[in-house]
Amino acid sequence: MRIDVVSIFPAYLAPLELSLVGKARASGLLDVRVHDLRTWTSDRHRTVDDTPVGGGAGMVMRPDVWGSALNDVLTPGAHLLVPTPSGERFTQRTAEILAGEQHLVIACGRYEGIDARVMEHYRSRDDVRVTEVSLGDYVLNGGEVAALVVVEAVARLLPGVVGNPHSLVEESHGAAGLLEYPVYTRPPSWAGLDVPEVLTSGHHARIERWRRDEALRRTASRRPDLVAALDPASLDRHDVAV
Ligand code: SAM
Repeated sequence: MRIDVVSIFPAYLAPLELSLVGKARASGLLDVRVHDLRTWTSDRHRTVDDTPVGGGAGMVMRPDVWGSALNDVLTPGAHLLVPTPSGERFTQRTAEILAGEQHLVIACGRYEGIDARVMEHYRSRDDVRVTEVSLGDYVLNGGEVAALVVVEAVARLLPGVVGNPHSLVEESHGAAGLLEYPVYTRPPSWAGLDVPEVLTSGHHARIERWRRDEALRRTASRRPDLVAALDPASLDRHDVAV
């Protein structure tokens, strides 16, 4: 998969060289290219913004600069992602869909955001899909943090990126629709707290049942909305008792 990120702060994307994403890039599983939007400016001051038409606070990013950048970076069939607090919520499901794409382009806004004609223009084109995505109901200073989130959430779903693919199966927000059960490691006792006895029993069926019960309890107490969304057909007799 190829991912291009366009930003006025390319250094903000430096963490994409670290950890699993960095390794995926080094091994050729993922091709990430970070661009400085100012490369596409044409004036001496490398201006990317201007005052809002109609007045008001702040500055708006210019459509001509973004248009030049995106025309160069987008390839036919690419999916253009525009982080914005007014976008559709970015979820694990969004990450799963995006993980099936060949080419993502992430346009990082700053200031009051990007001139709305940019999204309108690319939406009107047959060869590009456009999605405006929000990380959540809060306002960040720029789209770079959102780009980091999107790249990491998508990259770990690509085959070969996470060493043990089984790690992805029982995770929170996965196919089971539950939050993950609590996890423990050595030592068996710490700060007066013991690892639950069942986990050291070696009894796989009991461990599986305990984990499922804990996942259900945790989801019910922390995210009742997820329990309400569960398909009743996915529940068994023991689940209902929990
Ligand atoms: N004036 C905009 C509004 O009220 O919708 C907020 C602009 S914000 C200060 C600047 C940039 O940060 C946005 O263009 C977007 O790229 C990014 N951003 C801020 N909050 C975000 C969020 N919750 N999700 C995704 N991107 C966000």
